Amino acid sequence: MPAIWDLPDFDSHEAVHVFDDRATGLRAVIAVHSTFLGPAAGGTRFWHYGDSQAAIIDALRLSRGMSYKNAMAGLSAGGGKAVILANPQRIKAQAMLDAFARAVDSLGGKYITAQDVGMSEADMVSLSKVTSHVAGLPEQGGDPGPYTARGVYLGVKAAAQHAFGTDSLSGVHVAIQGVGSVGGGLARYLAEQGAKLTLADVNAQRATDLAVELGGTSVPADEIMNIDADIFSPCALGAILTEASVRALKVRAVAGGANNQLATGSEGRILADRGILYAPDYVINAGGIINVLRHIENADDAQINRGIDAIPERLSAIWSESDSTGHTPAEVADNMAQKLIGR
Ligand code: NAD
Repeated sequence: MPAIWDLPDFDSHEAVHVFDDRATGLRAVIAVHSTFLGPAAGGTRFWHYGDSQAAIIDALRLSRGMSYKNAMAGLSAGGGKAVILANPQRIKAQAMLDAFARAVDSLGGKYITAQDVGMSEADMVSLSKVTSHVAGLPEQGGDPGPYTARGVYLGVKAAAQHAFGTDSLSGVHVAIQGVGSVGGGLARYLAEQGAKLTLADVNAQRATDLAVELGGTSVPADEIMNIDADIFSPCALGAILTEASVRALKVRAVAGGANNQLATGSEGRILADRGILYAPDYVINAGGIINVLRHIENADDAQINRGIDAIPERLSAIWSESDSTGHTPAEVADNMAQKLIGR
């Protein structure tokens, strides 16, 4: 394994903390990408990684993403992320969570944690008994999914406006990959506006039930990226936009909530060359983190909603600059974010 500084995803992280607590079996990484705008904020992922290098790389990629996301959302927060390496049995023992909370606490507020894949709201409450550096507790807005869904809905609307010049979503055909917390919420907003929906989920029953409820259609999960639609909305996994999948898309815009949608980054150019508008993921999916972090600052609902309502404006600014410079929306967003964090 190369030295951590030589990993392609290192990107001048301010610090990468590695924890190993023999007594509880905790192994965790807390990556702090940037504290330029404030304490590094980002969730904790509990995941079974193939090896420890994969865990470190995931923490680095996610942490840099949080720097960009928080900066573009206008938050006074830097970017960080934690991963806990799940044991083979994937057992999340209380003693291990306590040890992790002590690890977060040992950074003295330089890193603020929140919920991510594999961690529940109850786990956040449990961490908060040991450290105060936890966001997204039930009294602070709780589950970020509905807020993310609203931001993604506003972003999809903005994409329709930019790509088709329409203010109405009536009849606009949106293919949604993954109808969980974010994708399901998005589908409901879109149905209210009269959009035509095609839904898919690896949990096929979930997609079928929602399609029946909302008057849409469901298709098998492996078909959703080949649907002839207006907008493709990825709301499941990251890295789904590969060279091959982008070449096969039959849509005019991609706007969805999943993190890290571009598999390598270069797919942004293929999208642009194919005339497919792209909504950079960390800009369109910031609703949840806006809610979580603004709550800590004691913002009220109106202030939080204004932050989420500004997502379309941010996307429009990116698309306008992309149109005038020829840089892809992903490049424009990255450049804007880097400037904001002083890089
Ligand atoms: P979720 O677990 O509630 O829903 C994900 C859904 O996707 C599930 O129904 C799952 O069965 C389905 N799915 C998984 N693999 C699939 C595949 N290959 N094809 C089709 N469906 C598949 O998760 P969520 O909270 O809705 O998050 C969805 C995405 O949005 C993730 O990438 C997440 O990182 C990102 N995101 C979520 C939030 C949030 O606030 N929840 C915020 C920012 C980004």
